[in-house]
Amino acid sequence: MTEQPIREALDAAGRVPSEADLDTLSRQLNRPVRDVVEIGARCVCGNPLVATTAPRLSSGIPFPTTYYLSHPVITAAVSRLEAAGLMNEMNERLGGDSILAQAYVAAHESYLANRDAIGARSGTGAVPEIDGVSAGGMPTRVKCLHVLVGHSLAAGEGVNPLGDEALEAIAEWWTKDKCYCAGAWDTESEAPSRDRSRHVKTQELQDPAAKRAERAAKRAAREAQERAAQDDA
Ligand SMILES: [Zn+2]
Repeated sequence: MTEQPIREALDAAGRVPSEADLDTLSRQLNRPVRDVVEIGARCVCGNPLVATTAPRLSSGIPFPTTYYLSHPVITAAVSRLEAAGLMNEMNERLGGDSILAQAYVAAHESYLANRDAIGARSGTGAVPEIDGVSAGGMPTRVKCLHVLVGHSLAAGEGVNPLGDEALEAIAEWWTKDKCYCAGAWDTESEAPSRDRSRHVKTQELQDPAAKRAERAAKRAAREAQERAAQDDA
């Protein structure tokens, strides 16, 4: 497909982020979002649930975590599962259940293929630094359930078996057929435009390449802050 039909197909699927979407994402995450190239999934009301980030940030840093869960109600619910030890249980099952393990490898491969496609259509191109590196512990471990749930929401049911399980497990707090947005984030005050968080929030970034990228991102953020502080002085 040439560029125009791809854009139209994305638009029809509600994946092209509007200014209002980016504003909502910044409010949901309480920091300004950057390099969001698509909306991975939406609430029934239309609000973003998942931010799809380019595989290379505009700063040049490789970014393996394509699907970032943004909705506070879902992130909180998934955090409860993590706190209750669901990841340990999943890791044990991955060790003993070869069918599950195979499906999880397939999810990893699907993630990488999607990321390549997103890189191609967002103009990022290939990102060799993170070749074969997905996120959340895939393909052999579960290190971050938020990543798996973000993947499941963006890819749809049947792609990531453990993300799908986690979504079922949060059903008492969130289901895809209902809107849980009211009161879930600040809609009154100005949307965050400067990153005041002390650390870059990451939902995974466990692998060495990602950790290096994260350190570089923190360094860049610190340098930018120092420059801003100097400008203020
Ligand atoms: Zn909603």
